[in-house]
Amino acid sequence: MNAIESTQNPRSSFVYGPVKSWRFGRSLGIDPIGAVSTCSFNCVYCQLGVIQDYTTQRQIFVPTSDILSDLQALSTDEQIDVITLSGSGEPTLALNLAEILAIAKQEIKRPTVVLTNSTLLGDRMVRRALQLADIVAVKLDAISSNQLQRINQPTETINLPHILAGIEQFRGEYPGQLAIQTMLLSPWTTEMIEDYIQLLQRLHPDEIQLNVPARPRVLVRQLDARGNHAVESSNGAFRKIKCISANVLKTVADAIYDATSIPVRCAPIAL
Ligand code: SF4
Repeated sequence: MNAIESTQNPRSSFVYGPVKSWRFGRSLGIDPIGAVSTCSFNCVYCQLGVIQDYTTQRQIFVPTSDILSDLQALSTDEQIDVITLSGSGEPTLALNLAEILAIAKQEIKRPTVVLTNSTLLGDRMVRRALQLADIVAVKLDAISSNQLQRINQPTETINLPHILAGIEQFRGEYPGQLAIQTMLLSPWTTEMIEDYIQLLQRLHPDEIQLNVPARPRVLVRQLDARGNHAVESSNGAFRKIKCISANVLKTVADAIYDATSIPVRCAPIAL
């Protein structure tokens, strides 16, 4: 029995939205993970709550045929700019990632985006599957091992040099649009910004996306937290996450652009 057969996931839950994304417009979400949140990170800001299955083990979580029937059931009236694979955890853990990207493109005929935490980019099969995406946004929140442990809390086999090597290898092979997405939880020092710029110069992304936590973190898993839905916690279990100011965000963005000439986009900050 695979993971999806053992859950009580309601049908039609693998495709959601479209939701409005500050990065991609109206984004139709595909969730290749399903009911149990599954990731190789347990980020302190994760909107899914504490990750339930904390792993680097790839498997098929949701049969491709279930995603296909959900896509085929969609209303043709929906305005969709892109199709985004993220959902309930790390999408590259799904062994059927390539199949899902292929059917999404075939059914919806829109650009496909994968949001990944970068931890599996050292795997040749993952890099090969990602070739089918039009845009890949790779997470890079940390410029030191200490920061990686504090912010992303990876499984024990993951380390920063391994992540950076994977991104670099993927960049060398991938002809599509590569974005680096970085969550800023607190102001960075000048030295940290300089280190980050050096990494960008090594990794050559097409774009940098500076993100900030959009809302308090739910501590208990809620399926509706996929995409950018705001959710209400039934038991009030939220953790407020500190957010930097719009001015600090702009200062960091300007410093990066001035040094690299790589376009930098910033998440909107509610005043
Ligand atoms: S990588 Fe994404 S899904 Fe995984 S813990 Fe971090 S925010 Fe959550």
